[in-house]
Amino acid sequence: MTTTLTGELLIGAQAKRGEGAAFQAIDAASNTPIAQPVFHGARQGDVERACELADDAFDAYRTLPAEQRAQFLDDCAARIEALGEPLIERAMAESGLPRARLEGERARTANQLRMFAMLVRSGDALDVRIEPALPERQPPRTDLRFWRIGVGPVAVFGASNFPLAFSVAGGDTASALAAGCPVVVKAHPAHPGTSELVGRAIQQAVAAAGLPEGVFSLLFDAGHEVGSALVQHPAIRAVGFTGSRAGGLALVKLAAARSEPIPVYAEMSSVNPNLLMPGALAARGETLARDYAASTTLGCGQFCTNPGLMLGLAGADFEAFATNAAREFSAAAAGVMLTPGILRAYEHGIGRLVEHPKVTTLARGAAAPGRAQAALLRVSASDLLADASLGEEVFGPSSVLVECADEAELRAVLRHIEGQLTITLHADAADGDLVRALLPLIERKAGRLLANGFPTGVEVCDAMVHGGPFPSTSDGRSTSVGTAAIERFLRPVCYQNLADGWLPDALRDANPLHVKRRFAGRPEVA
Ligand code: NAP
Repeated sequence: MTTTLTGELLIGAQAKRGEGAAFQAIDAASNTPIAQPVFHGARQGDVERACELADDAFDAYRTLPAEQRAQFLDDCAARIEALGEPLIERAMAESGLPRARLEGERARTANQLRMFAMLVRSGDALDVRIEPALPERQPPRTDLRFWRIGVGPVAVFGASNFPLAFSVAGGDTASALAAGCPVVVKAHPAHPGTSELVGRAIQQAVAAAGLPEGVFSLLFDAGHEVGSALVQHPAIRAVGFTGSRAGGLALVKLAAARSEPIPVYAEMSSVNPNLLMPGALAARGETLARDYAASTTLGCGQFCTNPGLMLGLAGADFEAFATNAAREFSAAAAGVMLTPGILRAYEHGIGRLVEHPKVTTLARGAAAPGRAQAALLRVSASDLLADASLGEEVFGPSSVLVECADEAELRAVLRHIEGQLTITLHADAADGDLVRALLPLIERKAGRLLANGFPTGVEVCDAMVHGGPFPSTSDGRSTSVGTAAIERFLRPVCYQNLADGWLPDALRDANPLHVKRRFAGRPEVA
């Protein structure tokens, strides 16, 4: 497996030096440039070439037999694993994330490609439905058959905080490829070397499978031009993005302003409220405080599911929790952040809160130059209700403890908060009535509801939802993690009255692919 980096763009089968601005990767821990290689941004012509190749590849790729598409995904996984130590070392240098985390992320990346391969083999995502002709009915009905096909080429923006599992071959790419959609990736400039290594592995898998070259391309840019041009290119039919609210909304705006608007699935901003129910708080407040600090500071707080708000009811148990949590946060080590820009944004966000007259700083973790210092802050629910900016996401190892005077105030906060990826309940059996009463409210606000755990750590599986109402995502009907992520890149097609021999195999009477289907409103019996 080649692990020599060149800094080149990967456009279809070609590797090409970009003619745009030059940039280098930055070593996150030392904030110094990594000498080799020098990367060059793409130009408009490169975007056009990658998108045209993707468009050319679309029909041949989406009509591949399922087994071939599944084998391609499996091969991508194997080739990423085969990159071995150089991939981990490069990702550690570029992201500042520790080895164990990146090794776990590599496994997650490979596993999610294999999970999508299994989904492709099963045919379940095709969602085949057949309504046979009813010639005797008045008026007579002709035969109707439904399935789902890929939407077309997809633009993927790699996320800074998951350089493997949500980047070049991450969840967005895997789900788009599984749907039969070619992918053009805009690499995140925070980890270009990691991106090139993974990109070359995918490029080689495309060639080894004999697929049309445009199934995958990887473009670099240190600014916004390439990403903007990609979203505006007529061949691109959908966008997957994870990052800031400003970035996501900018892409949503560009996509909506196209002469033919396209969907943008942007995962943006969430503070993941945790609710301390009175029974649980009384029974195990000290443990909860310790786990809260651990979850908030995990990975230097650089998770979209970081518990940014902790809500509880005023009283002695709440005060004890605040004291215990403050002790834990004070003991947190200073952490390396992904990029100097993300550190600056964190310091700015914390500075704004610390200086706010209604905010109490309960604890700061250890400080070190060029490192993020953990922070635990406290506000009253009434002040939060008066100024929603106190509850805005500050990406990093910080959280805000919110004291609610009573249940009515807790409900008021839940009614006023924005859409979230997750809401967590810390509750014991004694809290059952309150939990049941709150559920209808919190279901409206989040994509994933948890009990007695912490939201950091997102399982990749059939039942996961990593999405939620705006602004946690730009489209709350979707998830970006788990097999349901494929639905973002599929669209339904109905065939009315087509002869059996003209239909795709999955829709034919004999069901030669043995896919699960609904027939006349019921699961089909084989
Ligand atoms: P970002 O600034 O939103 O950038 C993500 C990607 O989108 C990058 O490739 C970026 O290119 C591109 N981009 C951003 N704005 C764009 C625009 N207007 N037009 C075209 N392309 C655009 O996110 P980030 O660099 O990962 O981190 C910055 C902040 O995002 C963090 O401090 C944090 O607040 C937030 N964040 C949130 C999550 C989450 O899951 N909620 C995850 C990661 C980051 P360039 O880098 O070249 O600008």
